[in-house]
Amino acid sequence: MPKKTKSSKPAACGSCGGTDLVRRITTYPVMLTGDLEGRQIDVGRVALHQCRACGHMMPTPAGQAKVDRLVERGIELFRDLGGPRPPAGA
Ligand SMILES: [Zn+2]
Repeated sequence: MPKKTKSSKPAACGSCGGTDLVRRITTYPVMLTGDLEGRQIDVGRVALHQCRACGHMMPTPAGQAKVDRLVERGIELFRDLGGPRPPAGA
């Protein structure tokens, strides 16, 4: 079990390596891949750290859990809307 730390702040930006990160709660857009490529799910009010240099967003563990949950739900919704369904009343 790794040592528990109070702050989950990443050491550096995962995109540009910058260390000037600011904690925010904001909308986190997720681009889908695979058969839902081109679709985007905007997850609202996600706790994350944003790089001041490039704007790259890194959700906190709690934020990431929320993103995973809502993306999963969003994918189900897209599948329901776009999936093949029997014609009604035919
Ligand atoms: Zn960056």
